[in-house]
Amino acid sequence: MSKTLFANAFVVSCNAGVGDVANTDVLVEGDVIKKVGAKLDRTGAEVIDATGMILMPGMVDTHSHLWETPFKGRVAEGWGMEYFTNVHPLVSYFTPEDAYAGIYAGLVESLSCGVTTMFDFNTCIHTPEHADAALQAIRDAGIRGVLGYDLRGKSPNSKPPLAPGAARFPDIERVRGTLSNEPTDLVRLAVCLSDVSPDTIDAAVREIEFSRSLGCRMSWHCNKAGEIEAIADRGLFGEDILPAHGNYTTDRDLVLLGKAGGFLSTQPEAETYAGRRSMSMVARGHRVGVRVALGVDVPVIMNLGLLPQMRLMHFLQRYMDGAVERHEGQVPVVRRPGVPTLDARNILDFATVNGAAALGLGEVAGQIAPGFQADIVLMDTRSFGMAEGDPAGHIVLNSSSGDIDTVMVGGKLRKRGGKMIGVDLEKMVANRLAARDRVYKKAGEVPGGLHKTYWGWHKEA
Ligand SMILES: [Zn+2]
Repeated sequence: MSKTLFANAFVVSCNAGVGDVANTDVLVEGDVIKKVGAKLDRTGAEVIDATGMILMPGMVDTHSHLWETPFKGRVAEGWGMEYFTNVHPLVSYFTPEDAYAGIYAGLVESLSCGVTTMFDFNTCIHTPEHADAALQAIRDAGIRGVLGYDLRGKSPNSKPPLAPGAARFPDIERVRGTLSNEPTDLVRLAVCLSDVSPDTIDAAVREIEFSRSLGCRMSWHCNKAGEIEAIADRGLFGEDILPAHGNYTTDRDLVLLGKAGGFLSTQPEAETYAGRRSMSMVARGHRVGVRVALGVDVPVIMNLGLLPQMRLMHFLQRYMDGAVERHEGQVPVVRRPGVPTLDARNILDFATVNGAAALGLGEVAGQIAPGFQADIVLMDTRSFGMAEGDPAGHIVLNSSSGDIDTVMVGGKLRKRGGKMIGVDLEKMVANRLAARDRVYKKAGEVPGGLHKTYWGWHKEA
């Protein structure tokens, strides 16, 4: 069995038993963390000197649409609903090869930024071959990946298209039959539910019962008030259903979510860039026991990786807390119990412990402790030194993706010394751009011509 010893690290474990410990070794055997302690036996182990590094759990992105990766920069400054009108129509033109190119590039970028687990909320499945391409991309990238098989299926141009909703059940059963879906598996399957509303709740009930019958966890775009309550009213809400966004959730929704031991997946950059959404659900949920997790969501708009999401979450929550205090006449603002709502430690947990648990991996990933899968990140602090105070503060406030030196997933090194392992980056980028150009050609578009095509204010300029 392969052995790797990370020597002399500053361990930020996100595990209550291990805590934060300086000058500590972490021994990995096979795919598992075997020991954490000072001066461990190195016999037979490949030793990685982690002096000057923070050793932390790999981060968990609980909601991204990786098929969009070829269009990085498109509608980067979109406002309001422009993302939906400018990006979503393109999915129709994707072949399985295009989907593979986008998803693989997104997974590699995520790994490079220290994300070791990805929930790919895949809205680009038009045929069984598209689903297979997504699974292959996860396998080839070597990330811990969950394929979120979307039931909605907006794919008018694909032939023959998989119709939306229950028509997709047989293909989901087929994919499920190819996977054991154990928590320690690197490739797993989840189901993305159709929209939930009073009109469609019967369909949602069928989808939830179907998903549970396969042992699949679920997620959906929770973009309206009362959706969690609608599912709970049918007695079906459980922590295995992960609402994404939840910006419009009512307090009642969040209380029900908290009572179920549930999670909320928020994407701070994606939810704020277009000026459409409230972010109050994070604090409201946090106060009633909802465990918050993070994601990137739309790689057309922003880079993958969770360090920017954590930092924005930190400042955004403080901004909102301060606004409420000032609104209520508390000037100057003063620290009191519950204000500010979050600290860096909470937010680091969002990206690690909570993210893993939100995907059903709470027992196997998101923490550095014996028995957990060896999903490990080394963050280099040597250039500018470690920040003082809570080391979670260094990670959330004082680091960048460029500091991610080493990434291990399930005991296998995917990045070392700042360089990706086993990835032909040139080919990956070429494939990504070729996929973009094929899709644009079918859609009758030209790369770089988009501003004029879509945005009136650019046309007039
Ligand atoms: Zn989304």
